[in-house]
Amino acid sequence: MRETDYLFEQYRLLDGAIEATHATLDELHHRDNRVYRSLFAADTIAIEGIYTDYSDQFYRYGDEFPYSDMVASSWRELDRAGRMLYRQSVSLDELQLMSKDKEQMSVAIPAIWPIPKSALKSGIGAYGRRLHPIYKRYIDHKGIDMAAKTGTPIYATGNGTIEMTDVGRRRSGYGQQVLIDHGFGYQTRYAHLSKILVEEGQQVVRGEVIGEVGNTGGSTGPHLHYEVLYMKRNVDPINYFRRDMDEAELERIIEQAVTTTFERLESNE
Ligand SMILES: [Zn+2]
Repeated sequence: MRETDYLFEQYRLLDGAIEATHATLDELHHRDNRVYRSLFAADTIAIEGIYTDYSDQFYRYGDEFPYSDMVASSWRELDRAGRMLYRQSVSLDELQLMSKDKEQMSVAIPAIWPIPKSALKSGIGAYGRRLHPIYKRYIDHKGIDMAAKTGTPIYATGNGTIEMTDVGRRRSGYGQQVLIDHGFGYQTRYAHLSKILVEEGQQVVRGEVIGEVGNTGGSTGPHLHYEVLYMKRNVDPINYFRRDMDEAELERIIEQAVTTTFERLESNE
């Protein structure tokens, strides 16, 4: 009798300890979902099978003893705690990967002006389909044009690898150009350069000088033709200048965007 009572008491204490563990796990889970995962805009974690308890029958060894219910419930709760811990560890693994990616992403994605701001001579030649002021024909402009003196340094706008350098043709096309692969689906192109200062396969960091402004290829005056590609499709590079300016400045630049183009129409950009 005394032995049974002793065991009962021990199980009660054990249940208390399991309950406290659950409270800690709940708190951890809450913080994980509300703070850490929301920080990375991750979905709240749900792993199949984690939440479903096994049936009571699963834990039963026999109904004949007065303490059978108690033993089964202790086992069930312990089992639940184990699975919750597993869920948390999976979530932490995932978050660790995400934070690593976030860091790399923020330095890789194009985010600065490709030339010094002070070197820009007039408004930026806008991206997109527009009427050519001289030829009076619609052209599809895949990047933006920034007029600047020949020799003005050109910066890599994000960390990446030089995917391609090309001298191009003399009177048409991109002329001397550099293409950077930034990873995460992003590439940038810098065209009409007078000088290329990098080699294919070379790693570059944001702000590193990769070449100089020029007037090569189908260009009518010294300028940088700058493109941003996402998943191999051109996007408006203006949207990737944010690191260097506030909203008001960005608005001003967009307003000042001009229809002037510096490329010859016959150039097949
Ligand atoms: Zn252009």
